[in-house]
Amino acid sequence: MFNVVIFGAPGSGKGTQSENLINEYGLYHISTGEVLRDHIARETELGKIAQNYISQGQLIPDDLMVNILEDLLDQNPKETAKGVIFDGFPRTVPQAQALKDMLNKRGSKVHAVVGLEVNDDELVERILKRGRETGRADDNLETVKKRLDVYHSQTLPLRDYYTKEGKYHAIKGTGEVSQIFNTIKEKLDNIKNA
Ligand code: AMP
Repeated sequence: MFNVVIFGAPGSGKGTQSENLINEYGLYHISTGEVLRDHIARETELGKIAQNYISQGQLIPDDLMVNILEDLLDQNPKETAKGVIFDGFPRTVPQAQALKDMLNKRGSKVHAVVGLEVNDDELVERILKRGRETGRADDNLETVKKRLDVYHSQTLPLRDYYTKEGKYHAIKGTGEVSQIFNTIKEKLDNIKNA
C-alpha cells in the first residue's frame, strides 16, 4: 500500500490535488467531507448528526469519524489494496493516532503527509468563490471564519505531529494547480522509490 494524507486548511486545494493524485498513482480516494455531504443529501441518521456540526463550522466528534473511516476501509478491501489518499482525515491528533492503529492492524502505515500551505486571506477568498460557484452550504463568510479557527486550534497541531514522525512535506499551495502538483509528485516519487 502507498498511503498519502493530503493535509491543509479548508480551501487549500486538497480536493483538486487529490484528483491529480488519483490519476497519477491509481489510489483510492477517501474524502470524509464528501462522505458526510452524501449522508446529508440522502438524509441518513448520520447525515442529520453531521449537518448540525458542519453548518456550525465544527468538527464531527472523533469517535464517530473514526468509526466511519474504519467502515470505509473494511467495506473496500479491493479498492484500498493499492493505497489510499486520505483527504480531510485526520483533522485532530486523536484521529491521527486512530489512523495509525487502523493502518497498523492492516500491516500498513501513512507513507507521506502532503501539507498544502495557503494564507488565510486567500483561503477565505477561495472558499467564498467556491460557495458562489457550487452552492456548497458551509462555504459562507460566517462559517468560513469558524472553520479556519477550528483548523488553527484543532487541526494544525497535526503538522507538528507528522513532522516529528518525519512524514510532513510542506507544499506552497498557491500558484498554478499543475505546478503545485508537479512539486507534490516530485516529493511522492522520491518517497515511493526510496
Ligand atoms: P471538508 O469537505 O473536508 O472541508 O469537510 C467539510 C466538513 O465536514 C468539515 O468542516 C467538518 O465539519 C466535517 N468533517 C470532514 N472531515 C472531518 C473529520 N476528519 N473530522 C471531523 N469533521 C470532519
